[in-house]
Amino acid sequence: MTSQFPEIVESLSPEALLDRVLADSSGRVSITCSFQAEDMAVLHMLRSRVPEVPVLFLDTGYHFAETYAYRDRMAAAWKLNLRNLTPAMTVPEQEGAFGILHRTDPGRCCQFRKVEPLMAALEGFDLWFTGLRREQSPTRKNLKKIERHLLPSGRSIDKINVLADWSWSQVSEYVTRHGIEVLPLYHLGYPSIGCEPCTGLPLDQSDPRSGRWAGKKLECGIHTFSKLEE
Ligand code: SF4
Repeated sequence: MTSQFPEIVESLSPEALLDRVLADSSGRVSITCSFQAEDMAVLHMLRSRVPEVPVLFLDTGYHFAETYAYRDRMAAAWKLNLRNLTPAMTVPEQEGAFGILHRTDPGRCCQFRKVEPLMAALEGFDLWFTGLRREQSPTRKNLKKIERHLLPSGRSIDKINVLADWSWSQVSEYVTRHGIEVLPLYHLGYPSIGCEPCTGLPLDQSDPRSGRWAGKKLECGIHTFSKLEE
């Protein structure tokens, strides 16, 4: 796998890295997609090479109406192989059993609605493409373009962060150049968009994720539950 040569990997453009990874591996490919601009850029590159790639969307039941509408519009326009990953409990079931967890215990809410469904889904794949970037958050500053992660089951999966070294302006330039419609919520000033109750305008303009969870946490857990293998 190309990850044996980290210095080469880190110097590759997103498209060149995609080509190397796909040439080096016959593993089952997936991409997680929250329908933010980064994910749409990676998906745009990936779907031209793997048209049937499973697109894993964490359907928490708490997304903005605009996100659901945009997801459905893009899934139809791009003929996506969309996999809506749903939690074990519906929103009314969870709220009936535990109350409004996104207010009282967002970590547990994310665990139920995002982490557990993704953990289960990733068991079916060997390659996991993401739109993560180092610039997005202090928690992502050490991101590598290819990382091998150990899932809780003991299986390993290769996580491919092709945009790790991209800036927001590079993402923006890419989607503009390719005429990719973006989630309309960007036009209302949200630079990072997740579930509606946990997405606000940034508290710190230099930190795009500072409006998530009212600044109380930076990660939902889907990028921290697996163990990075050296
Ligand atoms: Fe729950 Fe908020 Fe996490 Fe969504 S982002 S799963 S609403 S705590």
